[in-house]
Amino acid sequence: MDEFITVQCPFCAQDFSVELDVTGGRDQVFIVDCEVCCRPVECHLQFDEAGACMHEISTDA
Ligand SMILES: [Zn+2]
Repeated sequence: MDEFITVQCPFCAQDFSVELDVTGGRDQVFIVDCEVCCRPVECHLQFDEAGACMHEISTDA
């Protein structure tokens, strides 16, 4: 099952989708390239006990 979240790019403020790796653990940090401006966005994911995903976006600076 694929799951996606929508994140807002901190550089260009556009929304884009990020595919979740639901088997990757409760806490995940990875870099995705913005689909709009192609800059690297650091994405922090945290899954709670119900499986809901919280996410936080920052720049890799
Ligand atoms: Zn962007």
